[in-house]
Amino acid sequence: MTNLDSNIEFLKGVGAHRADTLKSELGIFTCRDLLFHFPFRYVDRTKFHSARDVHQEGETVQLRGVLRRLESLGEGRAKRLVGSLRDETGVMELVWFQGVQWLEKSLCVGKEYIVFGRVNAFNGRFNITHPEIEESAPAEGNVPARTFDPVYPSTEKLTQKGLDAKGLRKLIRLLLDTLKPADLPETLPDYLLAQFRLSSRWAAVSNIHFPENQQELDGAIRRLKFEELLFLQLRILQLRTRRKDATRGFLFEKIGDYFNRFYQEKLPFELTGAQKRVLREIRADLAVGKQMNRLVQGDVGSGKTVVALMTMLMALDNARLSDGQPFQACLMAPTEILAQQHFANLSDLVGDLGIQVGFLSGSIKGKKREAILQQLATGDMNIVIGTHALIEDWVQFKNLGISIIDEQHRFGVEQRSKLWKKNPDGPPHVLVMTATPIPRTLAMTLYGDLDISAIDELPPGRKPITTIHYTEHHRLRVQGFMHEEIGKGRQVYVVYPMIDETEKIDLQNLMTGFEALSRDFPPPKYHISIVHGKMKAADKDFEMQRFVRGETQIMVATTVIEVGVNVPNASVMVIENAERFGLSQLHQLRGRVGRGAEQSFCILLTGFKLSSDGRERIQTMVRTNDGFEIAEVDLKLRGPGNMEGTQQSGMLRFLLADLARDGQILAAAREIATQILEKDPSLALPEHLRLRQHLASEGKDAKVWSRIS
Ligand code: ADP
Ligand code: MG
Repeated sequence: MTNLDSNIEFLKGVGAHRADTLKSELGIFTCRDLLFHFPFRYVDRTKFHSARDVHQEGETVQLRGVLRRLESLGEGRAKRLVGSLRDETGVMELVWFQGVQWLEKSLCVGKEYIVFGRVNAFNGRFNITHPEIEESAPAEGNVPARTFDPVYPSTEKLTQKGLDAKGLRKLIRLLLDTLKPADLPETLPDYLLAQFRLSSRWAAVSNIHFPENQQELDGAIRRLKFEELLFLQLRILQLRTRRKDATRGFLFEKIGDYFNRFYQEKLPFELTGAQKRVLREIRADLAVGKQMNRLVQGDVGSGKTVVALMTMLMALDNARLSDGQPFQACLMAPTEILAQQHFANLSDLVGDLGIQVGFLSGSIKGKKREAILQQLATGDMNIVIGTHALIEDWVQFKNLGISIIDEQHRFGVEQRSKLWKKNPDGPPHVLVMTATPIPRTLAMTLYGDLDISAIDELPPGRKPITTIHYTEHHRLRVQGFMHEEIGKGRQVYVVYPMIDETEKIDLQNLMTGFEALSRDFPPPKYHISIVHGKMKAADKDFEMQRFVRGETQIMVATTVIEVGVNVPNASVMVIENAERFGLSQLHQLRGRVGRGAEQSFCILLTGFKLSSDGRERIQTMVRTNDGFEIAEVDLKLRGPGNMEGTQQSGMLRFLLADLARDGQILAAAREIATQILEKDPSLALPEHLRLRQHLASEGKDAKVWSRIS
């Protein structure tokens, strides 16, 4: 008797040889694996293009016609198989460069075929290279004729063993006929099935292989995606609760003098509603005795720094219970420049409140470093701001209460976790901040057990930045515009792609650009700063400071200025080779301007030819200033696995769900999971028995989650 856990070898029609191929080519070992090997597309037997109506290169088409000609041409690497498919309206050429021999043997001139593929233009004619091809009216035994035929990914090896789309279709049909609905028990509670009109698991799995029509297929996909995402969310939420319950944290009960005096005497502006809300969320975390592990997302310029400062003040206002030792705080930034700016900025803000603020980076050496380390160890220093240097073992705190990490995507998980160990009494609270917003539900998924806050509002009075796209031949116009703005007393950034060891060309471009600008904006009237990754830290800093103080009008730089630098008088950002930057990087760069009262501009310079992705990135930048919207496009273009800071999420492998596209289902799954666990944290209620059992059966995957954040 076949059941789902049977070795695939024992399914009728498989046998040892085909089983080996299924294992090696598709990773299918059991009947269950085969059943969950889903089609990647369907042949809709009712919808075909006609050869005559193919006009567009790149179009994906499905044609049905008779194979009229088949011949192999060329020699060696140019060897190819060429066929002509004729339908009622015309002829389409088919070309294969691989599997020539095999195809030549198995295809039959005179037979009717269905082909599917992308149209190429070659020598003024259209063809389809490497089309999928199968007989139009195959003898499928007792499989009834359908409108939708599943298509499974195929390889030459599979095809040779008769395991092409057709062969797999037969096997899966056979398997489904052998099984009973009871072999594939339901995993969702009846009330959810009813509430969302979801098909049963059995029906969904059958229908995803053999749907009668589009509606059935859509229903099956919806049900299976929902199931995947619901269990994912249940797992994440349960883990998070478990971690929270397990990890004790310092109790910051009090809102004290530092916080209150800062708020009343020092804060130079009114906090935005979003800043207040996020501070309340943070405060709620700190006042319960559990370790905070929170991510603050906020667009460039949304005012994360002051939120970080006020969070640190909450720590400083509290002390260790055992000996009354006040807590310390640290703020870590990814670059020296940014860390220094935070240091200057925050020292200035806290003014004469009597708070000791220090700076530590790799460039602080000798006596100076000794002094700071000493003060951190004795507790005389309240706040330290710095770079990666802060996580080195030789940095010891008297009583570190909270660690804040700016631009968290620049740091690895390992680096962050080192901060956890900086206080022998227990893990400090952790707040990470990012200006690379991603949709909230997605963030909750990717960052596993982090809590998420969003500063989704900009301080009042900001003028939206105007973004313009120019190609190379508008360079003169751009220069004219720079002259105008500089004439008004403003400053300008000109940014080139990153320089690293391998990219000599970038450095050349940057230097050439710098020289051209120097001719166009000559001294003594004009001065230009230049900053790139190959310079010594001290030189970088010197150039940077000249620009910050307004002594230079133009800053020519690589992306080292991407994060954090704040020069409110700068009103123009020119980005060279803009097509080479990712969306979130472009958005970050643009965020360097628009910080003052003046109208600001971002000019994206590109070559004439853009890839379709490149074009969409540029168009998105021109269209919107909204970081969340930009993040969604970025996500769509790059896929969730490639988002900054989410590399670890390669573990997020789904059968069907796509985090970038299934945002709505994800949000619904999140909400349901939250409701279920609020009502029934350990899934002990009878109506949740199925959920509990399914989670337990997949328990081995769950471990992965604790590692993500
Ligand atoms: P980011 O979120 O990009 O780190 P910053 O914290 O650097 O943003 O803030 C950008 C600018 O906005 C700073 O000059 C800061 O002083 C100012 N700012 C922050 N919050 C407010 C507010 N509520 N009202 C007015 N200006 C603010
Ligand atoms: Mg910032």
